[in-house]
Amino acid sequence: MAGERILIIEDEIKIARFIELELKYEGYEVEKVYDGRLGLESALKGNFNLIILDIMLPSLNGMEVLRRLRQTCQTPVIILTAKDEVTDKVNGLDGGADDYMTKPFAIEELLARIRLALKKSKISSIPENEDIIYINKLIIDLNKHSAFYNDEAIDLTKKEYDLLTYLAENKNIALTREKILENVWGFDYYGDTNVVDVYIRYLRSKIDDIYNVKLIHTVRGVGYLLKNE
Ligand code: CA
Repeated sequence: MAGERILIIEDEIKIARFIELELKYEGYEVEKVYDGRLGLESALKGNFNLIILDIMLPSLNGMEVLRRLRQTCQTPVIILTAKDEVTDKVNGLDGGADDYMTKPFAIEELLARIRLALKKSKISSIPENEDIIYINKLIIDLNKHSAFYNDEAIDLTKKEYDLLTYLAENKNIALTREKILENVWGFDYYGDTNVVDVYIRYLRSKIDDIYNVKLIHTVRGVGYLLKNE
C-alpha cells in the first residue's frame, strides 16, 4: 500500500537498487543501507513497516542484525539468502524472521511476500477492542473467527469466513479476483480465479439470500465489493 516504509539492508548495490526501484514503483517509501551495523541502527530508529534483510553483510551479519532487532522491535523482516545458505533460512525463521527469499528471485514473488507480511502484521496489531467489525447487522468477531447477522451465527467454512472478513476489512472498495485470491488463498495458490466466484456464491447464499440483503456486489469488469446499504 502506498506510503508504507520499507528498509532494505543489502550490500549488493545492484540488487538493493533494483528492489528499491520496484518498491518505489509500487508506491512504497524506501530507504536502503549497505552495511549491517548501520542497517540495524536505521531499523531501530526509522519507524519502518517492513525490513528486507540480506544475510551476508559487512560489519554485522544479517542473523545478528535480526537477533538484536528482535530484542526490542517486531517489525516484519523478510530475509534474503543465497542458494547455498539453506541453514540460514532455518536459523532466520527461528530467529524471528517472517519470511525468506532465495537469491536469485522473481521480483513479483518478493512483492507478494511483502504484501502478505504487511497484511499479517496489520492484523496482529489490531487492538483487542477493535477485533469486531460491524457492518450494519453483519458482525464479524475476529477473535472468535465467527460472523453474525442480526445476532444469528452464520455457519461458514474457514475459507468463507476468510473471504467475508477480507471483503469486510475492505468494505466499499472494489476488489479484483486476483487481489482476493492473493489475500484469501495466499500467494502460493496457483488455481483458477473462478474459485473466487464460487465462494462469493456460497457467501451470498448464506447471507444475502437468507437475510434478504444486498451486501456483496458484483463490480462489472473488476470483481466484487462489500457495501452496507
Ligand atoms: Ca550480501
